[in-house]
Amino acid sequence: MTMPFTALQVLGLCDSHLTQLYPNHSVHKDAAKAVFALQKSAKAAGFDLRLASAYRSFDRQLSIWCEKANGQRAVLDVNSQPIDISQLSADKLINAICTFTAIPGASRHHWGSDIDIYDANGFDANNRPQLISSEYSGQGPSAAMFNWLLKNAEDLGFAFPYLEHKKNGIAVEPWHLSYLPVARKAQQVLTLNCFKTHLAQQKFALCDRLLQDADTLYKNLVEQYYV
Ligand SMILES: [Zn+2]
Repeated sequence: MTMPFTALQVLGLCDSHLTQLYPNHSVHKDAAKAVFALQKSAKAAGFDLRLASAYRSFDRQLSIWCEKANGQRAVLDVNSQPIDISQLSADKLINAICTFTAIPGASRHHWGSDIDIYDANGFDANNRPQLISSEYSGQGPSAAMFNWLLKNAEDLGFAFPYLEHKKNGIAVEPWHLSYLPVARKAQQVLTLNCFKTHLAQQKFALCDRLLQDADTLYKNLVEQYYV
């Protein structure tokens, strides 16, 4: 490990911890070799493991959050069905958005240790991955690779933080992998205090309500996925 994380890095406000792996896909400098090794092992097993998403900045997460809060982007339930948000109270709306979308500043994608992956062998130009559970189960295009990862990811330093349904938590995400040696360093820095202090300085949609409930939201959406 080169350097410990700073608060700005774990909040997605600074990108000095990153290196670009592919156009638009950056990861933490200390995760790059591991991601390449993961891809190489997957290839040897017959899969074409590609990144749908890697590092995401605070600003990027903020625009996704605000589009959902403002009704410009669909808010989906656990079955990937759009929810009518027009009648929801602020706390119900927060819970609905948080099923699939992290609060800006609280995304594991800020750390550069976490990636969303799919098996490119199962897709083509007319059939792009959507990152939905059905693609990773049964005969789904990324299902065989997912099963292979369940057996092999750990040996390569990776784990799936969002595989289990947890109370008041995030939807199951079989596409989201975390490189633990780096993620664990980030977890030490993204404390409740760090999360709250930063939130108190923000003014984005639903922010006041997020701050009011910060202790519970941090526990349910961030800390209970620490590995
Ligand atoms: Zn993800």
